[in-house]
Amino acid sequence: MAATDTGQASATMQVPMLDLQAQYRPIRDAVIDVVTRVCDSQRFIMGPEVEAMERDLAACLGVTHAVGVSSGTDALLLAMMALGIGPGDEVITSTYSFFATAGCVARLGGKPVFVDIDPVTYNIDPAATAAAVTSRTRAIIPVHLYGQSADLDPLIAIAKRAGVPLIEDAAQAIGATYKGRMVGGFGRAGCFSFFPSKNLGAFGDGGLVTTNDDTVAASLRRMRVHGADRQYYHQVIGGNFRLDALQAAVLRVKLPHLAGWTEARRRNAARYDDLFADAGLTGRVTLPVSAPDRRHIFNQYVIRVPQRDAVKAHLESRHVGCAIYYPVPFHEQACFAYLGYRTGQFPQAELAARETLALPIYGELTAEQQRYVVSVLAEALSRTT
Ligand SMILES: *Cc1c(COP(=O)(O)O)cnc(C)c1O
Repeated sequence: MAATDTGQASATMQVPMLDLQAQYRPIRDAVIDVVTRVCDSQRFIMGPEVEAMERDLAACLGVTHAVGVSSGTDALLLAMMALGIGPGDEVITSTYSFFATAGCVARLGGKPVFVDIDPVTYNIDPAATAAAVTSRTRAIIPVHLYGQSADLDPLIAIAKRAGVPLIEDAAQAIGATYKGRMVGGFGRAGCFSFFPSKNLGAFGDGGLVTTNDDTVAASLRRMRVHGADRQYYHQVIGGNFRLDALQAAVLRVKLPHLAGWTEARRRNAARYDDLFADAGLTGRVTLPVSAPDRRHIFNQYVIRVPQRDAVKAHLESRHVGCAIYYPVPFHEQACFAYLGYRTGQFPQAELAARETLALPIYGELTAEQQRYVVSVLAEALSRTT
């Protein structure tokens, strides 16, 4: 009986949401070597390791400047500080993202202005963005959610017309492209995260701001170290957004592998697409859509099912990792109640928050594990009709 087979499989098969051990094993010796090198140098903050990482990343991403910082959140905060976002400034962004995108605007005294998403790509809706522009708009922040670029051409045009900078939240999208060019170099600044679960993960917190603007780059570098070009002489008020040498050294070991890891994620995404089709589930599960002019790097493989919570509970009971990104859009968060938004205002984001579910997609995932994930999902759907 099929149910018994699946029952037996679930006793042995485990599919974690992410398996960092599998990625670490083949690079372990190289990592230990550079960690030893940093330990022996006793230079822990910034310095040559960070400078080398910045050169490598700028070349890889095709940008003029790459500035290593303490986290993806700090990348956003620093970029906004360098672009002069302050009290009363309106910053337009998607209502559906990781908290940092909107949190950083509010931390600087700015007013986050939320707009709805495109229901197919989950990225900010350009038409809604245009409608949200006012005379107080000071920046627009598209998020390349799940690893797929936002629709940048119309957003760049809107920002240009409004005379404000575009800041790309590329935390989930390192190596993703739009019309053949890598994200992070389209806006005045691009913000990346090296949080361990991102496609290029450090061994702790880390982040990066990219720019092709020399003046912005100088401002980012100054504000990263408390606004001082020369130590103890402060031109402006910055903060401590410095990156550790250890993180930079680990990132340099990992960077040459990134393209291969990305290909493995894309291959796994294509395999899920095939497995869902073979199982006859494409009518009941909405699969991620890669826009033809963009290269999706699948930081997350996000499906959509109306019975999401029941499906998630069933997957977990069968030891299949899964996660909700994100259960509550910004306009419904308690901390943003003061902004006065109402439920119902951004229906596409609200629906996505109820129906989306991220499945394991890391590069080392095996075909057998993916078949198991899809079979458990089929089982879940047969129970929730
Ligand atoms: C991860 C992430 C961030 C924040 O990065 P941290 O390194 O965790 O601070 C910001 N925006 C988005 C969209 C993210 O996914």
